[in-house]
Amino acid sequence: VTPIPAPDDFREQARAWLSSVATPRANASAVWGTGPDRFAILDTLSHDQELELVGRVSEWERLRYDAGWGALDWPTEWGGRGLPSGYEALYRAEEQRFDTPRRNELVYVTQQLVAPTIRQWGTSGQQQRFIRSLLRTDVLCCQLFSEPGAGSDLASVSTRAERDGDAWVLTGQKVWTSGARVADFGEALCRTEAHGERHAGLTAFIVPLDTPGVTVRPIRQITGGATFNEVFLDEVRVPDDLRLGPIGTGWKVALTTLAAERVTSMRVAFDHADRLLALARHLGCGLSPVARDAVADVWVHERVQSMNVARIVAQLERDRAPGPEGSIGKLAATETMRRISAALGALLGPKLTADSGEWGTYAWAEYVVGIPGLRIAGGSDEIQRNIIAERVLGLPRSPA
Ligand SMILES: Cc1cc2nc3c(=O)[nH]c(=O)nc-3n(C[C@H](O)[C@H](O)[C@H](O)COP(=O)(O)OP(=O)(O)OC[C@H]3O[C@@H](n4cnc5c(N)ncnc54)[C@H](O)[C@@H]3O)c2cc1C
Repeated sequence: VTPIPAPDDFREQARAWLSSVATPRANASAVWGTGPDRFAILDTLSHDQELELVGRVSEWERLRYDAGWGALDWPTEWGGRGLPSGYEALYRAEEQRFDTPRRNELVYVTQQLVAPTIRQWGTSGQQQRFIRSLLRTDVLCCQLFSEPGAGSDLASVSTRAERDGDAWVLTGQKVWTSGARVADFGEALCRTEAHGERHAGLTAFIVPLDTPGVTVRPIRQITGGATFNEVFLDEVRVPDDLRLGPIGTGWKVALTTLAAERVTSMRVAFDHADRLLALARHLGCGLSPVARDAVADVWVHERVQSMNVARIVAQLERDRAPGPEGSIGKLAATETMRRISAALGALLGPKLTADSGEWGTYAWAEYVVGIPGLRIAGGSDEIQRNIIAERVLGLPRSPA
């Protein structure tokens, strides 16, 4: 067993490796007026730009994984180092200081949602086939869960999977699928049993997206980009060896992915809170009491959020599987974002809605319009509140 390095030694080693492969970022400490004038939280990319970004990120992820700096908290058998989860955050803080490609949503889904789900539910053949390739981003996998009639109420999924010899035939429609245009596979939740208890009638599959019968159509987002999609499955044949988990356990497989998603989402607001504070410092002491209040509110919430993250990470280290506490983490993150939006209104006023050409003002508009998407994706704020009420606080179930 490799000994766990002391955090300071680990940081130093990470810095040394990063210096050998990347250049330091000029504005590492959120200096106002430097760096790209971009604050968006959802990508606004054309298809070609999305492909190009994913290509660059994957190249970086491969370099990282091969050098032993990817998959830090995975066991060595999967190319990891078996370090406590907190080391991932230590590494990321160091990486932020360097000019490296910004991971996009599909890469997070691949490495942090789908790979752990296959580790928990996959056969050993599936684990051998997929885990290293997903962690290394040799293949990318999106999440084919939501449907026009199944979002918050995911157990209403109606995409059918019917057995045909040693394969399954999938027919239905998925929607809001992030990254489907550039993904190689999709983790799909399908209905294999039309009658009986609805959760028990679901089964999960890993669907190769180049199979005949798969059609992906981009959906234009409020931010202008189109990185999520409708995915139509028209008699798509999937071999039984791509069924993920036993028949009828699709709901449990999906819960594994969703729990990982909440834990991944709980860190999202940190960068932007720092940048908002930099904006407030730049504007100086002439701020109105309302604006000062709003900025202090962001700071307080960002602190609470980061303590929640630390608590959840510590808990993960004790018993691995993320539980309903992830909902607190996700909700704390979207609450910080909501407060950042409110503070931006107070700080920037009309400059947030009309482009004055001034750095670091109108560019925030893209962030503000992206926030509602984050409050919905991965389970809406209301659904997180229901989970916290029922599964953390033990309150009575909400009426159906
Ligand atoms: C940016 C983005 C990326 C996404 N990426 C993916 C992806 O990659 N793969 C994927 O499968 N899906 C993805 N989604 C879909 C997302 O998971 C769903 O949008 C979400 O689960 C909500 O479902 P819905 O849109 O059907 O809304 P609905 O479930 O119809 O909800 C509508 C409103 O009613 C509220 N509501 C619903 N039920 C309750 C209740 N019981 N109690 C209180 N309030 C309730 C909701 O909070 C919401 O405000 C993405 C969504 C977004 C915005």
